[in-house]
Amino acid sequence: MIGLISATAAGAVARDRLASAWPARTRVYEGPVREAVGRAFAECDQLVCFLATGAVVRLIAPLLKDKASDPGVVCVDEAQRHAVSLIGGHGGGANALALAVSDVLPCAPVVTTATDAMDIPGLDTLGWPVEGAVAAVTRAALDGSPVALHADAVWPLPALPPNVAPDPVADGTTDAGTDAAGRAADDMIEAVAAAPVPVGGVAAAMAATAAHTVLADAAVGAAQAGPTVLRVTDLLVEPEAREAVLRPPSLVVGVGASRGASVDEVLGLIEAALADAGLSARSVAALATVDAKADEAGIVEAAARLGVPLRTYAAEELAAVEVPNPSGAPLAAVGTPSVAEAAALVGGGELLVPKRKSAPEGRPAMATCAVVRKQPRGRLAVVGLGPGARDLLTPRARTEIRRASVLVGLDQYVDQIRDLLRPGTRVLESGLGAEEERARTAVAEARAGHAVALIGSGDAGVYAMASPALAEASDDIDVVGVPGVTAALAAAAILGAPLGHDHVSISLSDLHTPWEVIERRVRAAAEADIVVTFYNPRSRGRDWQLPKALSILAEHREPSTPVGVVRNASRPDGTSRLTTLAGIDPTTVDMMTVVVVGNTAAREIAGRMVTPRGYRWQTEGS
Ligand code: SAH
Repeated sequence: MIGLISATAAGAVARDRLASAWPARTRVYEGPVREAVGRAFAECDQLVCFLATGAVVRLIAPLLKDKASDPGVVCVDEAQRHAVSLIGGHGGGANALALAVSDVLPCAPVVTTATDAMDIPGLDTLGWPVEGAVAAVTRAALDGSPVALHADAVWPLPALPPNVAPDPVADGTTDAGTDAAGRAADDMIEAVAAAPVPVGGVAAAMAATAAHTVLADAAVGAAQAGPTVLRVTDLLVEPEAREAVLRPPSLVVGVGASRGASVDEVLGLIEAALADAGLSARSVAALATVDAKADEAGIVEAAARLGVPLRTYAAEELAAVEVPNPSGAPLAAVGTPSVAEAAALVGGGELLVPKRKSAPEGRPAMATCAVVRKQPRGRLAVVGLGPGARDLLTPRARTEIRRASVLVGLDQYVDQIRDLLRPGTRVLESGLGAEEERARTAVAEARAGHAVALIGSGDAGVYAMASPALAEASDDIDVVGVPGVTAALAAAAILGAPLGHDHVSISLSDLHTPWEVIERRVRAAAEADIVVTFYNPRSRGRDWQLPKALSILAEHREPSTPVGVVRNASRPDGTSRLTTLAGIDPTTVDMMTVVVVGNTAAREIAGRMVTPRGYRWQTEGS
């Protein structure tokens, strides 16, 4: 819930506008401002105060506890010029709220959080728990100082800046191609050791000098506080002074319980099992049990207290999972020889804690648990970029491009969005014709655990990369599809309303499809009187297919049937022409073009192409 507080008449007008825009999400707090802020602060996840920032700072100062529990607060000034994200920029969602408020009111969002302004993902925006020296590590990442990344596994994190890099001494995975200036100090140590006498000319000499400089700086820093480290692990570790620990969602705890087992017994067992194995409870991604225990209060409440979902499985499914410690008791009670171990092991993983029982004093144990570490799952986003214009790129596509650490695509499409990439994004671009290789690369990177965005123009599923990629992919990666505005839609919007009734897209490229198949489909569309959009209509080496296809349509449609020819839709050099089946000049068509042919009802009206919807009221009225 978002609490709204105002003091003046102008503030109340703005407040009411926001309240009516978001009726279900907002609550207006009236009365004296100090008291209203106090109540809203206690009751709401977020606040929008139509007050000066100074006033709000004074009002909330005595109420502040910590970043994790305080609500996000946004201030909007009297003239509605600014929506200032005041506190809780990430955790409290105030940065996003300031943006959302500025969609409704005329104000501009003001965000001062360094990581947002500097285009680096904040450690607290990843959605994973983070501990230790978060501020120091974030500061170092922002300042371009070396931060050694120690990750237990490859997780699908967004791109990190080049100064946050794996420690080559620790795991030897440093990319030899990385720019020396952007490398971590430890790389530099290696570079200096490897090349005491510069052998590669001026550049190598400069790199060695730069390395010495960085080494000197790093030595000063190290003397004071030690290296700056970002660790990604589910292990219980005591962070060093300049170390932050990110907790990946790697663990699943399988749980079994007799009816009526208390939450204290279940949770106590889980916590003891994790602690004894040296594992962090903050890396638990889920609890798992058998369907029959889906409502068992002790288990449900334990999941709630850990803040994780409870996954349940059918007894037959659990019975099929191979486990080290099956037993007769659960078999009799719920129909599977193992609940805790089997539920945790569904889908695979490494059993870190075999079945373990609770140990209540003076009575029989009522709970069991087992802990499994899951393989990280990589993430493949298949993203359509739209026809070219930046404002036809969807916000979701933009988010996914910035969510990725690896971007795979055709070089000309990469150019379309290069400015949106986070620094440190690994770009794997290739030229025309390398579709299979691109698909395979994207899937292989995701299988290696990375967050990958595979991009295509228009919609990535329309004559593009989605199908070859998903034909390669197995179920060990997560796949996210982001739709894009395909060329047919972009062209249709320019032409008028040519797709108002049934329509079909046909690619005239016979590189991968035999011409007989294409011709059969064109003929079917012609006979069925369907509006047709031709993709890949004509290239230098393929010039007879379009006239042939148009002649097939002309067997069933008047010579006066409208035809739209749209080249480079939505791009600065875009053109569009409305002609007819008889009048079209195929030499005006190339591979940057789509050709839209109307059905027998399509008309040119006021210079626009219109395919009637055929509503009754339209025919009655005419
Ligand atoms: N995935 C793309 C289509 C790829 S096939 C999409 O959904 O739009 C390539 C063909 O798409 C081109 O030969 C051309 O016919 C068409 N095309 C792509 N972008 C276009 C644009 N901006 N204007 C006109 N046609 C376009």
